[in-house]
Amino acid sequence: ETIFDCRNVDVLYSGKLAVAEVTAPLMKREITALIGPSGCGKSTFLRCLNRMNDLIPGAEVRGEIIYHGQDLYAKDVDPVQVRKHIGMVFQKPNPFPKSIYENIAFGPRIVGMKGDMDEIVENALKRASLWDDVKDRLKDNAFGMSGGQQQRLCIARALAVEPDVLLMDEPCSALDPISTNRIEDLMLEIKEQYSIVIVTHNMQQAARVSDKTAFFTVDLSAGESNRVGRLVEH
Ligand code: ADP
Ligand code: ADP
Repeated sequence: ETIFDCRNVDVLYSGKLAVAEVTAPLMKREITALIGPSGCGKSTFLRCLNRMNDLIPGAEVRGEIIYHGQDLYAKDVDPVQVRKHIGMVFQKPNPFPKSIYENIAFGPRIVGMKGDMDEIVENALKRASLWDDVKDRLKDNAFGMSGGQQQRLCIARALAVEPDVLLMDEPCSALDPISTNRIEDLMLEIKEQYSIVIVTHNMQQAARVSDKTAFFTVDLSAGESNRVGRLVEH
């Protein structure tokens, strides 16, 4: 079953093509790894999947990305709603400058999730294998955590609003090997409940965690301003 059906997706920045003609189905409850050299458009394409690329001035997306039967880029689709269902985790852990508890509670409060907030927070932290590490210091500032813990907190924060899909943009590049391993284990544990798309430079990581690998390429001999990323194999 597909979660995203991408059809002829082009991405432009200020009218210039950056990524061209991406056509690919991405499957539900699988981990898809996006691989390729720097500048081939992996992050750009990833951001298109939850309409986060709209936030970049001058960015334009053409083509269709069908998600649950609807084109994410249809006129009546609200990008804010899209982002609620399709969460994102970035390269650099970016917790809010707040307590561990508040980092998790913030999203569910905004989307008006029903239920006991303490339970929501506990469940999200458990899903990210973080509960045992932090249950006695939920009121501490998140910046006191290690980098790997901060990244797991960001994953817990993304999962707290019960998204359908988790997009991860090089989530381990800023982490040490042990923390990287824990995040990879975590991805494998949660992929049955979520569909995951991960951008990575790390072939070993792609081989270890992903069910499918999508290779992007870019013509490096073209002048820097004429490079266009393409999906070559999926
Ligand atoms: P990758 O993630 O594979 O390194 P990116 O998606 O970051 O590739 O970049 C793909 C292309 O789009 C590059 O040529 C890059 O310079 C361009 N690009 C990325 N982000 C922006 C932006 N915010 N504004 C203009 N061009 C951008
Ligand atoms: P990555 O390769 O990990 O995607 P980059 O170093 O290419 O990271 O890009 C880092 C940030 O700079 C991203 O937010 C990207 O959108 C932005 N960026 C990349 N290329 C350009 C560009 N040509 N003009 C403006 N912003 C860019």
